[in-house]
Amino acid sequence: MNDFFGWFPSTTFENNTCIFASNFANTCVFVTRDGLVIFDVPLRQFGQKTFDEVRKITEKPVKYIIFSHGHFDHAFGYEPFLEEIKQKDWDMPEVIAHENCLRRFEKYEMLDKYHDWINKQQFSSVSREDRDRVVSAHETLNPTIMLEGNHASYSFKLGEVNFKIYHDIGETDDSLWLWVPEKKTICTGDLMISSFPNVGNPFKVQRYPNDWALAMEKMREKNAEYLAPGHGRLIIGKENVREALTITAEAMHFVHDEVVKRLNEGKWFEQIYHEMLAIYPEKFKKHKILRESYGSYRFAIHAVYRLYHGWYDSGNPTDLFPAKTGDVARELLKISNESKYLERAKILFSEGKLQLALHILDVIIKGTDDQNIEILTEVLELKQKILKQKAKEEQTFIASNILENGASQIEKKLEKLRKPI
Ligand SMILES: [Zn+2]
Repeated sequence: MNDFFGWFPSTTFENNTCIFASNFANTCVFVTRDGLVIFDVPLRQFGQKTFDEVRKITEKPVKYIIFSHGHFDHAFGYEPFLEEIKQKDWDMPEVIAHENCLRRFEKYEMLDKYHDWINKQQFSSVSREDRDRVVSAHETLNPTIMLEGNHASYSFKLGEVNFKIYHDIGETDDSLWLWVPEKKTICTGDLMISSFPNVGNPFKVQRYPNDWALAMEKMREKNAEYLAPGHGRLIIGKENVREALTITAEAMHFVHDEVVKRLNEGKWFEQIYHEMLAIYPEKFKKHKILRESYGSYRFAIHAVYRLYHGWYDSGNPTDLFPAKTGDVARELLKISNESKYLERAKILFSEGKLQLALHILDVIIKGTDDQNIEILTEVLELKQKILKQKAKEEQTFIASNILENGASQIEKKLEKLRKPI
């Protein structure tokens, strides 16, 4: 995860005319004769650090700020740059984004508290201090130049350098990527993140795997020497850039096409999901660009299914208007009691069938009486142990956080149960 989080020193390339500053997400700055073009600003709390790193290299004024997309880690750490512009009485820079970025900022205002709640779960392993420095969705730097519609593009020249911006959907519907021919550099935003792409994130809205692959293929045509990803280290060398783009495009095509094939065969989600796990090619599994440090192939299967299918995903009419899971569990416990379920869960645990053990333990947790303190404590302790074990084995930051969160929630319940009455 060190690479994903940008825990490595910022660098320059092309004779100090390009600055690659890594503070959680990456900022790429191009130094031209007539000023600076900044591609992405970091999280608000890292704005000053990135600013200081840029100002160690160049004193030139900022002329353009481009947002790869409107996520908090790419479009909110702009304050130190604007502060300097005011102090030095420079002209305000142009701010370039896709029109959907502005819609995103509006959505952030509407769902401010919800996003705070959801991000505290997704990023729960990030230090509490950093997590609590909440970004206000009400303070945004709005675009002055907006790309409109699908596959839009925009070009401009500053000093001796040309900048070509393209819109392709992928992680978000407001993604922009940048091609700078004189610097042989592509800036991808989160279309590349030094992990399996963040497609099918369990907490977040729909992403677009097929269009993602197409964007990678368009980027490949540029034959770039440098690829500045949204997270992770700068990729250097034509072959390395080509390889990273090719394998990511192939993986996105694979997950998309294989799920689509199964949808056309009239299969429901569970069958598709487990078949997809069984056919995941070794070459993707082992490729370092596709390691599951953040996104995951397993999440991507959901993304494709959700893109083309509604929420009724089991094909079982029982699931159309389901009863409360607690009521179902109570009925199951009338058929066979808590001790028998626990006994079975322990056997499954000892056989390493952790996921099945969790399902069985949940029957007791949801269905038993709160007064069954002794058995409930034992059941919760076993579930907590399994969640911690799964979290440890899990590569994906998002999944391990969900599992760890579950274990901490259980700790709170256990503390209550252990309190003498
Ligand atoms: Zn990001």
